[in-house]
Amino acid sequence: MTIISDTPTALDQDLIVDGLQLIGGEWVPSESGQTIEVVNPANLTVLARVPRSGAADVDAAVRAAERAFPAWRDLNATERGRMLFRWADLIEKNAVAIDELERQEVGRPSWGPLGTPGQLRFIAGQADKVQGVSLPTYNPGTLGFTLREPYGVVGGIIPWNAPGPMFVTEVGAAIAAGNTIVMKPAEDAPLTPLALAKLAIEAGIPAGVINVVTGYGHEAGAALPAHPGIRRMGFTGSPQTGSLVMEACAKNLTPLHLELGGKSPQVVFADADLDVAVPAMVTGITLNTGQICAAGSRVVVERSIHAELVDRLAAQMQKVTVGPWNEPVNMGPLINAKQHERVLSYIDIGRAGGAEVVTGGAVPSGEQFGNGYFVSPTLFDNVDPGMRIAQEEIFGPVLSVIAVDDEQQAIEVANGTDYGLVASVWTRDIGRAVRLSRALQAGQVGINNALGAGVIGGPFGGYKNSGFGRTMGADSVLDWTQVKTVSMREAASPVR
Ligand code: NAD
Repeated sequence: MTIISDTPTALDQDLIVDGLQLIGGEWVPSESGQTIEVVNPANLTVLARVPRSGAADVDAAVRAAERAFPAWRDLNATERGRMLFRWADLIEKNAVAIDELERQEVGRPSWGPLGTPGQLRFIAGQADKVQGVSLPTYNPGTLGFTLREPYGVVGGIIPWNAPGPMFVTEVGAAIAAGNTIVMKPAEDAPLTPLALAKLAIEAGIPAGVINVVTGYGHEAGAALPAHPGIRRMGFTGSPQTGSLVMEACAKNLTPLHLELGGKSPQVVFADADLDVAVPAMVTGITLNTGQICAAGSRVVVERSIHAELVDRLAAQMQKVTVGPWNEPVNMGPLINAKQHERVLSYIDIGRAGGAEVVTGGAVPSGEQFGNGYFVSPTLFDNVDPGMRIAQEEIFGPVLSVIAVDDEQQAIEVANGTDYGLVASVWTRDIGRAVRLSRALQAGQVGINNALGAGVIGGPFGGYKNSGFGRTMGADSVLDWTQVKTVSMREAASPVR
């Protein structure tokens, strides 16, 4: 448990488990003994190491989860929920330290109070609300009803952009339903999930119920859905990897849900309150340096206010302060070198395609930006809906503005990508809000609201290539159960 970096803000050493992962309640190295360095992307200091695991480690974790399953399944649901509430309390008690850890491995500035305990409490409250239904029968001598039962050992793979919330929403829902789980966090941000797992053990969640295997996607990640002992999978990440995970699941006929990327439109009409819309849209694309699946990356604007909106968006973007996690800035760096190259290459693609950079479009200048993966908030105007920057997920602080003539064209452009995660509409016209709520092909629609914020327990997920299945809502717990129909006949009653 050593801290390797000499970062100015000390990490809570009790929450870091250097070089070890959680299998069956034990902190163990990988079978190979190899490790991966986890770095702060703002200054490239090494925060800790985690095991570089493979198929053997995944197998050990699945076996441990299998051993833990019968007792966890049979524990009464209220007690399961109580343990999740205790876990939420411990996360809240350690909120500052957890937030600091997540901020350092993701490189982001503070977002204010940690949302994770509240998300977990919502799920904990669902544990004893998993119910079946009573069914009509052909004769009075028979009872019919359904049971909702856990699958057994399930698996989850999560990305690096919000490792804490992703971990608790996936793990919380799966174990609330009585499953035991093997999680594979992202290689770039596994420390927060490991710390949260440590608190889960402290909260009394039994050994083997939550197992965390760290490693690269093509090694530990690929081994998880391919394991025949995994009865259901949850995956959050890119569509490309989602497709690979689905293929692996198909081989074993393992059901799954996929939470994938987005190219979310912000549809702005001439009657919108731009004083509210502009800051919200800029926050929507710069929060977490644009590395949010729900980021509103396309502004679809009614032509009569196009010029004014572009001016105001540019002015607002220029106010966004950029810097490392430990400064009071609005935006940190991108997560790694690959992501940095990717975002900068999309900016080149936009320019080459004829779009105009209104602001940003480069690495910010200054010594403090030389040692991290920084990029300036970037606004593109004169974007054609068919351009690659308007069609493909960039996962960076890059906003494209597309002008349209009327509501019908706005709907066509907004729906005109392969994605369908979030869509926002900025208008004061209630009729238009109703029409667009129905017309937009997205799992979440925000009216005068970016990022779908402000709703407690809203199911979250995608239409089209943004995925299928829902996390976070009450049904997310039910999704981790399978339905059994029971018919119970009095021995003497007729067969029908
Ligand atoms: P990614 O697909 O590269 O990686 C996600 C996870 O998959 C990581 O843990 C990685 O190690 C693992 N992985 C990689 N290759 C694998 C393989 N062959 N088999 C199994 N697992 C493998 O995605 P990323 O770059 O970490 O995250 C960004 C993407 O995640 C974006 O597309 C973003 O939109 C999406 N995302 C979606 C949501 C949502 O809720 N819809 C939330 C956050 C992020």
